[in-house]
Amino acid sequence: MKVKVDLEICESHGECGFVAPDVFELNDDDVLVWNPDPDESLKDKVLQAAAVCPTQAITVEI
Ligand code: SF4
Repeated sequence: MKVKVDLEICESHGECGFVAPDVFELNDDDVLVWNPDPDESLKDKVLQAAAVCPTQAITVEI
């Protein structure tokens, strides 16, 4: 699974990190950092995070 985030359109609200904290996190500067190649066991949470992102910045390749 490959996870991409377009930081040009990410608005750093952090919804993805609430849904999938093992994959997405805001750093101390409120910039999103994420695991681009998370374990398959996290697939449902990653897809949920992509679905709740208000700017649709997250792309998931399964
Ligand atoms: S939910 Fe979307 S806009 Fe919000 S921090 Fe995550 S990637 Fe960025």
